[in-house]
Amino acid sequence: MEEELTSPEELTTPSQLLSYLSTYKVLVCLRCRYAIQPGAIARHLKEIHRLHRATRRTFVAFASELELAQPHDVVLPDESQFPVPFLPIQEGLACRFEYCGYLCASSKRMKQHWRCTHQIPTSDPLSTPVPLQTFFRGNALRYFTNPSLLRGSPACTPDSAAKFSKDGRSNTPCTTPKTGTTYPENQHLPLNQHSSLIITDQGLLDHYRNSTYKTLSCHPETDQAFGEVVLGLTARFDFLRQGVMACAALHLASIHPANRTHYVLQSLRHQAQAIPTFRQAILLVDRDNCEAVLAFAFFLVICSLNSDTEDPRLFLNDDPDQHLHWINILRNGCSMLCPFWDELTAGPLAPFAAVWEDDLGVSVEASEGPLLGALLPRVFAETPIHGLAGEHETYRDAAVQLAAAEAFLRRRGPGATVWDALNAWPMRMAPAYLELLKQDRPGALLLLAYYATLLRPTRGEWFLVGRVESLIDEIARRLEDTSCSAQSWDFFLGIRREYFPEEALANQ
Ligand SMILES: [Zn+2]
Ligand SMILES: [Zn+2]
Repeated sequence: MEEELTSPEELTTPSQLLSYLSTYKVLVCLRCRYAIQPGAIARHLKEIHRLHRATRRTFVAFASELELAQPHDVVLPDESQFPVPFLPIQEGLACRFEYCGYLCASSKRMKQHWRCTHQIPTSDPLSTPVPLQTFFRGNALRYFTNPSLLRGSPACTPDSAAKFSKDGRSNTPCTTPKTGTTYPENQHLPLNQHSSLIITDQGLLDHYRNSTYKTLSCHPETDQAFGEVVLGLTARFDFLRQGVMACAALHLASIHPANRTHYVLQSLRHQAQAIPTFRQAILLVDRDNCEAVLAFAFFLVICSLNSDTEDPRLFLNDDPDQHLHWINILRNGCSMLCPFWDELTAGPLAPFAAVWEDDLGVSVEASEGPLLGALLPRVFAETPIHGLAGEHETYRDAAVQLAAAEAFLRRRGPGATVWDALNAWPMRMAPAYLELLKQDRPGALLLLAYYATLLRPTRGEWFLVGRVESLIDEIARRLEDTSCSAQSWDFFLGIRREYFPEEALANQ
């Protein structure tokens, strides 16, 4: 392959490197064989292809004339259009559970998917080999296949799943062809459009009861709280009922991509109904509603992280109305609960209270890891003494908390959940630090990048898919825009290379 490529000097016209696919409104890099994100074209040309400034200008001008869709808006090919030209085709797998149709590139991923999404740990998940393509790489990677291969009746329905033995293996032989070069017509998969849409409140509550609650409870000890207890409270507290339905709808959106818009809109409607009543409730927290307020925190986080309307970058939010920021709502909500904490820890939602436990129970001095030890001097170097008042102290405090968060998550080991990761640091972010983050101070961004490495192991949760990667990309973008030093940029690249190899590769 190498010898076919022209050297940068020989690239003079955009068509030598870039091809515009008007059907999908994407610009494909012919060398990299993937579409470049609309905002990343200049960087791609500079950093990957090392085009000289004058050439780059011509290419960027060419691209600026084109109508380019954002990654999540790209319309996928129909059966007559697959495969998309220029993009490589790789062997992949499609999930055959119910109307799932989830696609991935490795059997390891598929096993993880069955464990997390279908709650069936199995060494041999039902799947069919399919050809995969993706327009984008990195955080916008989204596989698609020929939709005709996803048609037919499900190989595995909840009923047949019940026949699974404890290790998740089917009692009836169910073969998954190991050779992936042919895609026989009888290996049909369900078509998402054929699944009946859930449109009623009761339908959403049932979906929550049957499926969603288990995906939220990352631990057996919280199963009952997320299940029975929360559902019991929904009868009395409408904000919680709306929150549960909003969350169930997002969960449905994640497992039925073809009906995504329908479910996201449903979720947004329930979110809009939940928030005003919840805001009222936290003005007057009492013995009666404290459990519902505590439970709602989880649904608030999930909707905030997953919603299409929310900034997908977790902590980097340009929204001027920071009061609406989920961290602030969460912190306010939890501080309102303080007077009732003893009751909460003794009641049926004790496992929830434990998740937001204030005391992480780690000694901080002893826990400062080598990476963090190198990070703090870097953060200080980015911050002139005559900079913002108290900036150094704010960073030091944030770093100490970060070290504690890391020690805490390490102690939790593989059992650490996304809730632990959120409680360990974001809930403790000082307003002064959030303010520096809002101003895109390099020191604040570096600390956040470090935190992203702690969130990484939780990426398998459906409501976090792609979010941590977006966060890392967004930090990169902001660091580039600030006057961050070359050393700090290298430090950041080092973190990204080590912890986010896929993103590092895509953005090289
Ligand atoms: Zn390229
Ligand atoms: Zn599946």
